[in-house]
Amino acid sequence: MKMPELYGVIGQPIAHSLSPLMHNTAFAASGCQAHFTAFAVDDLAAAIAGVRALGIAGVSVTLPHKTAVIKYLDWVAPEALEIAAVNTIVNREGRLCGYNTDVAGALNALTEKLDLAGKRVLILGAGGAARALVYGTVKAGAKVALTNRTPERGLQLAKEFGAEFVSAAAAAGFLPEVLVNTTSVGMLPQVDALPVPESFINSGMVVMDIVYNPLKTRLLEVAERNGALTVDGLEMFVGQGALQFELWTGEKAPVKKMREIVLEHLRENV
Ligand code: NAP
Repeated sequence: MKMPELYGVIGQPIAHSLSPLMHNTAFAASGCQAHFTAFAVDDLAAAIAGVRALGIAGVSVTLPHKTAVIKYLDWVAPEALEIAAVNTIVNREGRLCGYNTDVAGALNALTEKLDLAGKRVLILGAGGAARALVYGTVKAGAKVALTNRTPERGLQLAKEFGAEFVSAAAAAGFLPEVLVNTTSVGMLPQVDALPVPESFINSGMVVMDIVYNPLKTRLLEVAERNGALTVDGLEMFVGQGALQFELWTGEKAPVKKMREIVLEHLRENV
């Protein structure tokens, strides 16, 4: 009898991760003999040795390990090396290969709404998620500016990927056609917080918020009211997860089922 393959997410904290729910649903829907679980990991070197020793088939990597994990892998995709973040490990007969699906997950969610080439894109934030968005939108040919509460961090990220840094006061003057919030502003419990003034958002914009708890953030509510096109954080989360599933199984991900189960959970728990 073939034993089920084991997959997992490593991070710290990890208790609230929705990845086990999403991936176990995907495995079941696709008839894969596999199980996905969450591992709270402090000692990354030991955890990766464990992945090798136990023959764990694939790993999702989340905060704070996305950069540090690179040095423990046998091969890393060029894009993941450039962005210096791996969120997916595939165990190919003992050879641990690292990928980044955050970039494509985020970009696919945006490019369903518009072609980014030549568009003025303003990214709010300069943390881990902003790295994927800035890198991806620059690569897609957009004119990218970013602003951040801590300017030094914003300047550093902008310089690294060839974007422009703008102060919060000067951000409206950039006349963005696309606005992406990658800060945690608006996330539970501060659901009334807005990362930009309401007057900033107009009907010609595409507004994406990568926060997914709550799913409809105040920013997205305001954007909808002002006639802008909106993209919620679930699209990026499911998008990056679907690409992980495809790397692990070689099969097309049951995206609809993955989205439905996460949505159901968010509706019941947020
Ligand atoms: P991170 O690395 O900690 O970065 C947080 C960013 O938010 C920084 O730019 C920080 O600015 C800014 N920030 C935090 N509090 C702020 C405040 N009160 N006012 C203004 N700026 C503030 O976090 P991350 O991993 O990038 O995640 C950011 C958010 O994205 C989280 O809500 C996370 O759940 C969400 N996320 C969603 C997905 C998805 O798939 N949808 C994926 C990853 C992350 P400073 O530099 O000044 O501290």
